[in-house]
Amino acid sequence: MMRQYLDLKAEAGDCLLFYRMGDFFELFFEDAKRAAAILDIALTSRGEHDGAPVPMCGVPVHAAENYLARLIRAGCRVAIAEQTETPEEAKARARREGTAVSKALVSRDIVRFVTAGTLTEETLLEPRRANVLAAIAELRGTFGVASCDISTGRMEMEECQPGTLASILARIGASEVVAAEDRDVPFDAVTRPPGDFSSDAGERALKAAHGVATLDGFGQFTRPMLAAAGGLLAYLDHAGRGSMPLLLPPVVRRSDGFLGMDEATRASLEILSSHRGGRAGSLIAAIDRCVTGAGARLLADDLAAPLAERAPIEARLALVDHVHADPLLRGDLRNLLRGLPDIGRALGRLVAGRGSPRDLGQLRDGLGEARRVGDLLRDRPDPPALLNTLLPDLAGHAELTDLLARALVPSPPTERQSGGYIAAEYDHALDDLREVSGNARRAIAAMEARYRDETGIGSLKIKHNGVLGYFIEVPARHADALMTSDSGFTHRQTMASAVRFNSLRLHEEASRIAEAGGRALAAEEAHFEELVETVAARAEPIARTAAAVARLDVVAGQAERASEGEWCRPVITEDTALAIREGRHPVVEAALVSSGERFVANDCTLSQADRLWLVGGPNMGGKSTFLRQNALIVLMAQAGGFVPAASATIGLVDQLFSRVGASDNLARGRSTFMVEMVETAAILQQAGPRSFVILDEVGRGTSTYDGLALAWAVAEAIHETNRSRCLFATHYHEMARLAETCPALSLHHVRAKEWKGDLVLLHELAAGAADRSYGLAVAKLAGVPSAVVARARSVLQKLEKGRAETGGLAAGLGELPLFAAAAEAEEKECDAVRERLAALDVDTLSPREALDLLYVLKREA
Ligand code: ADP
Repeated sequence: MMRQYLDLKAEAGDCLLFYRMGDFFELFFEDAKRAAAILDIALTSRGEHDGAPVPMCGVPVHAAENYLARLIRAGCRVAIAEQTETPEEAKARARREGTAVSKALVSRDIVRFVTAGTLTEETLLEPRRANVLAAIAELRGTFGVASCDISTGRMEMEECQPGTLASILARIGASEVVAAEDRDVPFDAVTRPPGDFSSDAGERALKAAHGVATLDGFGQFTRPMLAAAGGLLAYLDHAGRGSMPLLLPPVVRRSDGFLGMDEATRASLEILSSHRGGRAGSLIAAIDRCVTGAGARLLADDLAAPLAERAPIEARLALVDHVHADPLLRGDLRNLLRGLPDIGRALGRLVAGRGSPRDLGQLRDGLGEARRVGDLLRDRPDPPALLNTLLPDLAGHAELTDLLARALVPSPPTERQSGGYIAAEYDHALDDLREVSGNARRAIAAMEARYRDETGIGSLKIKHNGVLGYFIEVPARHADALMTSDSGFTHRQTMASAVRFNSLRLHEEASRIAEAGGRALAAEEAHFEELVETVAARAEPIARTAAAVARLDVVAGQAERASEGEWCRPVITEDTALAIREGRHPVVEAALVSSGERFVANDCTLSQADRLWLVGGPNMGGKSTFLRQNALIVLMAQAGGFVPAASATIGLVDQLFSRVGASDNLARGRSTFMVEMVETAAILQQAGPRSFVILDEVGRGTSTYDGLALAWAVAEAIHETNRSRCLFATHYHEMARLAETCPALSLHHVRAKEWKGDLVLLHELAAGAADRSYGLAVAKLAGVPSAVVARARSVLQKLEKGRAETGGLAAGLGELPLFAAAAEAEEKECDAVRERLAALDVDTLSPREALDLLYVLKREA
């Protein structure tokens, strides 16, 4: 057994091996230690290996899913080794092979790898979150990314340059990433043989998976994309041990069709999860009013990848508007959707061969409901274009739903073992078999009464259990009467207080039940397989129905949320203006409202001529909230939803950047200030005139002088070079002087006032520079002891006196050349060097002359 175990373990590699032994999955050695620690179960030992006891732990098979879920969540991957023959079969084999029957070992095989990205089980998946597996391949410096959610079969492919890979992966949010062994990738990945990641292999695998001779019908796939698809499909094949999950035709994702957001921006805007890690407190938690899991998954997708083109955004908005404008329709629609099963995932399980009769029942109900959704929405005045494209996908399964309705009982079970899921009258042969066993059961019931009469034992009973099958039981004191050889009863078992018997007639009826039952089960099995095949043949249209229903749920949820919060339909334009009237932050507002407070709405009106707003004012005054609410409104609008504002006109944004100075990002092992600068550098390199940037206290992570200097230079560069729309929050008063040299920059502040010695934060945005910093007042507000505040006040007086005499932090800023002029001067120096280099004939230089020249250039630089 140990040899068999070690062979399987070698095959499982770094996956935990679940080794099936009867009713348990056992783990041994290091696997056992790791699993026991994660699952908090007892670690025992069994036998010896190399002279030491073998650590072991086990989980019962019937509860295995629950334990698997916890191991996967803890980052493990698990190989499941099942027994592939019964102990009887093993003994028979031993007899045939002439080996010791008593030591016959049942053969085992790894039947499946369970990994975070390859789950389909309902219990292991979160209903409102997609579960994505991604594969990455690199060909000559270009990356291909293939991703799929095998629980629904959705598959996408895209291509990118190294610089944007991280941001694409952040958007995809995969639970598992696969890459080739021979590549150094800057993220956690499962590594697989490089041969899997060839574009030829990928093309072949895709063609095979879809049974097509060419992929042209699906789109234009580049070599890096195909290579990634190769890695993805090979991994799925490996994990499923040859059985492929549902894969829908792959869709090419063009990166320029979407609003660009890097990882730092996503994290800082808390789109799908908040800083605390969970969904609570995130944007999606504040928006999501979807009534189905599939809807919630699609909404997450929309928010993770907002659009960057006007037409598709308007298409979504028009449909939200249609449902928003008619509260009755909205209510009916949401009520219908509420009862809808998860069609996409039921389909995924069935095609992957892990489906149950209940999944078939869900398709029957779900597809039927989808048709009713279509009926509700059809034939209304002024249907939006998107609705017209969705309607045909909602119907068209009449034949399949009729078939399933005839074939299945009303609520089919999740298990197949005991049958009973095929409806009566679907198959007459099956009905007959059921009648046979029904009759036999009735015969047995009648037999009990007759035996009581015949024997005169009123307490005689006919019972059934898993070991003996049917038997006759009488209390021990009556047993002797039946023990005689001519009684017609044969003794089977003596218990403490009862004795059990068999009889020929009972045996006959019981065999009839067993035989008919076995044949009935086989017939149901055959019907199940056939129904699954019928479903699988229609996988694509069923998936389209699932997608259409999900889209309608998102739309209805958006409309519902909009009417709850009095949100408005944004106007999308092609220019670079941004005009938000009475904007609000959906998450902060929800938190305030729940504690009975009021959110103060604020305007934001940026244009080419006034594209950078410097926002000052006291801490806690609402600067961050203001910055983020505008970024979120842009994001929500481009995701195709209404926005929390009185009105919003949004010139399409191509890239959104959000940075917060010196957040606690120590996890990656860089100092907070380093992180702040790396993230800021990315903005300065990437943001353009169509981008929208929010910078919150950049420069905060270093000394005052450094910080002010950097904040100053960054603001100037965005104004002059990137020319993006930008909101820049800072507590440096000195930066107000930027307004003197930057014509498209204006000053704003969040208002505060002192009232009876206390600070009142108004959270209201006003034009102009902040008058003072209120730092001490905020400290007082926060509960800093009054003695400390008083002491700080006297220190401050001294400092301010010093500043008045020397000109302070801002002294000398007046003589600063303009940013453009400074950049030009630097550029000129480079030009001089460039000219000299151009004039040089390198071939005529001796090594000595070349070295001298380098010294000269270096001195001058
Ligand atoms: P700052 O960035 O200026 O330090 P924040 O934006 O973090 O301030 O806001 C601090 C707190 O003030 C928030 O947590 C919220 O409770 C409250 N707040 C901010 N903006 C508003 C607003 N517009 N209306 C009401 N309360 C607000």
